[in-house]
Amino acid sequence: MDADLEQLRDTARRFYERECVPHEKRWTEQQHADRDIWLKAGAAGLLCAGIPEQYGGGGGDFRHEAVICEEQARAMVNAFSNNVHSGIVAHYLLAYGSEAQKQRWLPRMATGELVAAIALSEPGIGSDLQRMKTHARRDGDHYVVSGSKTFITNGLHANLICLAVKTDPAAGAKGVSLLMVETEGSEGFRRGKLLEKLGQKTQDTAELFFDEVRVPTDQLLGDEEGKGFGQLMQQLPQERLIIAVGAVATMHRALDETITYVRERQVFGQPLMSMQNTRFKLAECATQATVARSFVDDCIGRLLRGELDATTAAMAKWWATDTNVRIVDECLQFFGGYGYMTEYPIARLYADVRVSKIYGGTNEVMKEIIARSVERGR
Ligand SMILES: Cc1cc2nc3c(=O)[nH]c(=O)nc-3n(C[C@H](O)[C@H](O)[C@H](O)COP(=O)(O)OP(=O)(O)OC[C@H]3O[C@@H](n4cnc5c(N)ncnc54)[C@H](O)[C@@H]3O)c2cc1C
Repeated sequence: MDADLEQLRDTARRFYERECVPHEKRWTEQQHADRDIWLKAGAAGLLCAGIPEQYGGGGGDFRHEAVICEEQARAMVNAFSNNVHSGIVAHYLLAYGSEAQKQRWLPRMATGELVAAIALSEPGIGSDLQRMKTHARRDGDHYVVSGSKTFITNGLHANLICLAVKTDPAAGAKGVSLLMVETEGSEGFRRGKLLEKLGQKTQDTAELFFDEVRVPTDQLLGDEEGKGFGQLMQQLPQERLIIAVGAVATMHRALDETITYVRERQVFGQPLMSMQNTRFKLAECATQATVARSFVDDCIGRLLRGELDATTAAMAKWWATDTNVRIVDECLQFFGGYGYMTEYPIARLYADVRVSKIYGGTNEVMKEIIARSVERGR
């Protein structure tokens, strides 16, 4: 942290408290945020913070994105996934986009005029991406895209989609390419209904359908077809780390909520905090949250130095999310029946965090990645 990052943290904290938290109930009912939240976040400098200024970004690095992500997680705002927009898609463009592609899309992503999504998962496949069915057939200077994607974060508002397709259906991983699809005026593109979820009720998660959608060939990411799987593999450590960063921030929020509650709640004539079970459980949770923060901070350092490998990122993702889910569950127990009432933040956290063990690569897939490295002798 430095003074610049502290200031950004303060801006982000105030933004989420003022612009998002008051709308939580209405956004939950409609299952999505208002579209203009993206423009407001852009105006506040919270989009594309880690993208160079020449492309309209904040000119920062991963620390800037991590600070914004932490504040969003602490405020329990899921309504718009800046992680997907700024933390993932903008970096695909920065790493693999041509100069023309960067100039065309990044500045409008930084203002919130464009909302980005990444569409990999399909109804038939999630973990095993090599078997995806969505395909793109070359037809002159266009691709013709057909298929469907599901569970897509920002699915309602997204108008720029980083879409994984098979350009060579016979080729497995080597047949995967990434196409940037602008949805406006895209004939054959359709959004399905918003998906009703266990938690993260304000997040617009949707299915996307592509029926012979024509996409100009100059919207391919990278200089040739078949590079998509490699591009995904290279970017996944950052994607997994950002999930771990959010998990750590959430653990600390859960602990803060709980400590306030157990100090005030009286049981058998004394504060709940004075019970040995409460003290020991919270001591355990606080230890785990502190260890998680140190490990994830170390991973951020590694990422900034270009040293974060896939195995360590997988460790951070599975361990931080698993620990987070466990801590939130332990914390909820101290609230008794109130912990089951959605008006209490701890109840919402309980429902919201569960998915973190599933998306961004399931925690079982993370362990498989780590096990391969263990098998090789680390
Ligand atoms: C709220 C939400 C938001 C999401 N956002 C996005 C998004 O923006 N973009 C996107 O593309 N996707 C998104 N996803 C999809 C998510 O990434 C997938 O759900 C996830 O990758 C798992 O795929 P699946 O659901 O098909 O499960 P499956 O792959 O069918 O897995 C089922 C079970 O099998 C286990 N399993 C799979 N492979 C192995 C293995 N090798 N060894 C052991 N066990 C294994 C899994 O761990 C899991 O427990 C989102 C999902 C949710 C719920």
